[in-house]
Amino acid sequence: MSTRPIPRDSSPAQTVDAALESLRDLWRDGLTTSRLEVARAASKVQAMQSWAPTAETSSRIRVLSDRLQAYRLLDETARASELKALAAEIKSISNDLRDAAPELTPVGLLDGAIGVARVGAREPKPAPPAPAPRAATPRVPGAVPQLKPESPVTALPGVGDTVAKKLLAHKHPMETLGDVIALAPTRHIDFSRTTTISEAIREMHREFGRPEGFEVTVRGEITRIQDNSFAKPPRITITLSDGTGNLKVTWFNSFMGRQLTVGDELVVSGALEDGFGAFGMTSPEWEYAHRSGLSTGRLVPVYPLTKGLAQKSLRTMTRNALDATQGRLYDPLPEPIRRKVGLLPLWDAYERIHYPAAGDQLHAGQRRLAFDDLFYLQLGYLIQRRDRQSGGGVPLTVERPILDAFLAGLPFTLTGDQQKVLAEIERDLAADVPMSRLLQGDVGSGKTVIAAAAALIATANGYQAAIMAPTEILAEQHERNLQHLFDGLPEALRPTVGLLTGSTKARQRRSLLESLAAGHLQILVGTHAIIQPTVQYDKLAVAVVDEQHRFGVKQRGELALKGTGSSPHVLAMTATPIPRTLNLVIHGDLDVSVIAERPPGRIPIETRRYRASERELAYDLVRREVADGRQVFVICPLVEESETIEAKAATVEAERLQTEVFPELRVELLHGKMAAKQKDAVMSVFRERQADVLVATSVIEVGIDIPNATVMMIEGSERFGLAQLHQFRGRVGRGAHRSYCLLLSDNDAGDGDSRLEAMIESDDGFVLAERDLDLRGPGDFLGTRQSGLPELSWLADSFDTRLLDAARSAAEALLTEDPHLERPDNKAVADQLQHFWERTGVGVTP
Ligand code: ADP
Ligand code: MG
Repeated sequence: MSTRPIPRDSSPAQTVDAALESLRDLWRDGLTTSRLEVARAASKVQAMQSWAPTAETSSRIRVLSDRLQAYRLLDETARASELKALAAEIKSISNDLRDAAPELTPVGLLDGAIGVARVGAREPKPAPPAPAPRAATPRVPGAVPQLKPESPVTALPGVGDTVAKKLLAHKHPMETLGDVIALAPTRHIDFSRTTTISEAIREMHREFGRPEGFEVTVRGEITRIQDNSFAKPPRITITLSDGTGNLKVTWFNSFMGRQLTVGDELVVSGALEDGFGAFGMTSPEWEYAHRSGLSTGRLVPVYPLTKGLAQKSLRTMTRNALDATQGRLYDPLPEPIRRKVGLLPLWDAYERIHYPAAGDQLHAGQRRLAFDDLFYLQLGYLIQRRDRQSGGGVPLTVERPILDAFLAGLPFTLTGDQQKVLAEIERDLAADVPMSRLLQGDVGSGKTVIAAAAALIATANGYQAAIMAPTEILAEQHERNLQHLFDGLPEALRPTVGLLTGSTKARQRRSLLESLAAGHLQILVGTHAIIQPTVQYDKLAVAVVDEQHRFGVKQRGELALKGTGSSPHVLAMTATPIPRTLNLVIHGDLDVSVIAERPPGRIPIETRRYRASERELAYDLVRREVADGRQVFVICPLVEESETIEAKAATVEAERLQTEVFPELRVELLHGKMAAKQKDAVMSVFRERQADVLVATSVIEVGIDIPNATVMMIEGSERFGLAQLHQFRGRVGRGAHRSYCLLLSDNDAGDGDSRLEAMIESDDGFVLAERDLDLRGPGDFLGTRQSGLPELSWLADSFDTRLLDAARSAAEALLTEDPHLERPDNKAVADQLQHFWERTGVGVTP
């Protein structure tokens, strides 16, 4: 290696240069931990003392050389970042040295090289670094050249085209530095918090079967080292003991052997595996347990990975991207809002999201980014609402005698909640501002009759109504139900109802559309086919969207555009109860009505759990019910990887049930890979009682109404979310017979347990939704339930209603001041707003 003697009479610039050069040497020797070389570098740093103008500078230099001594003890990644940090500190100090030199080593040189070493850590001798362009203007000394957030990822040290491709293929695709910075860590490893080895093993048994592996952080002493550096692939295995148990830890890397000795105490963090005969970890994160170094107890980010990109590489990239963009990341959020709510500047928030010094720093970062999500969400909602209302609506007077005749003709009387909701809707319809209302009601709470009443108010005023459902089966069901509900009306008052779906025959379709455009057809029911451009309404005044969570905000908007001249009133309905606190997040553009009460006389559904060994009991119940003439749904376990695999598994299960378990019964199959026609065929076979058991994947439609089905048997129930389990359960108990929901599970423990307990304790969708929110947290809750929402990446850990209220008020205030965000200082907000909503296909134009 090359070293240069320090001439006594050298300038501060040369001394600084020599110190930097000595760091570069450490890097060139593969981040060496050689005592001799590190000591030599430390002495080069110490040499800067002779130029220190003040005691303060002198002590900064001393700290630097101490840090260099401790550098030997760091792991590979930490050594690389420590070298970079030391270089930055040297450069920062160099400005203070007397006679500070005008020219220092080009900034990028050292750091670029370190970046390469960090990314390609296995390569012993990377190619010499190319000189980086010199910064044109003075800047805060930093280790990575300053770059714009829009710069391509390849501008980062060590990122070439191959890595760039992998970054693009990531679930969160990254093309620019800005994208890299916006990669949300899934969690952080806290090296200061550990469990004992025996406790970790017990925990793992409890959680066994979790596909992502069981992550733990444990601390112990090395009792044995097996060095297989020269094997292929090279690997080091150590045995770690903490008095409660042993752990085998393997790294596939020849590097580790040189750093570890028997007797060292380590903290390792990674996925615990049940190896053959011994519990172990492969390539965990690690640290020395006793170390005076910088990063003991630090929080280290863990990112979602993609094929071919290592955790360490991603960390290097986020670190470098943050360093490169410091001071260059424009913050679109208006300063006064930021100050008022007490939020961090954008770059600082990202820094803390990735590399917090402590838990509260992480929280402050998350809070800022969560606010942004909420703020742009609310801005979008407010603008959409304003636009929808600006067209003016059709005030519909309520023709009391007609409505009363309708209600009197029903085979039941409305519940109190139904009456209350209907009154709210009547008020909305009478206004000249179009209605934007969401009706939330649990499965079976009786929303359809409310939709029918709203449609009738339109037709009684000489207007038309449209009802959109997410699937053909549901659309057909609605059309049938609507005809029934209107049966009680005198023929003269009975509106005409038509059905339009993807399978409507061309001739039928043509006459339907003619009749609709002419105004003869009064109510059109269908799938999204009813919002196609070719569908022209004569006078549409009421648009109903059923199971609206299955549509995007975009399709809801398209139905609203079908009005002629004025905007129709929109009634959206959903059977997915949302906790009150989240309504504004999910439905910020809508007024919300709730039916909490259920129609009287329903027999409660009996929910039971069966463990693996009790499966026969569940099968017996199925046989009994079928013998009584009832029908049964069987839901197959959720397979997250792919619908194809799930479909295969369901096929196998249906075969098994038919041949081995229920040879005497008629078993049918429904899965997501079947064509729509095929699905419809299966459903009508089942509806017409030509089958006893319907085996289905989770695709089984929400809203399906088969009153004769009394058993919902859910296999692998612990894998489903609470909301989904509740939806499945809602498929039974719709007729006069006692119904059962059977929750089968393969394991007797795990976190699915609390959900299954909740299912047994309550059959109220709202109670379960609150419980679900408690169990999963807002981010996960929103993530799995909502389609059509913009991506709310940062809400997970930092949602609270106060932050939401602050975002809503800030958005309202901003739009009051500048309704169309035209002021130059709001341009960035307007751009960010459009970008935020882009993914949903909703154009939000302020
Ligand atoms: P959902 O809210 O899930 O769409 P539906 O509108 O399909 O529920 O109603 C479920 C069943 O309850 C239907 O058979 C409907 O006729 C019946 N129903 C609705 N309202 C009442 C009521 N007030 N009293 C009794 N039965 C009712
Ligand atoms: Mg319904």
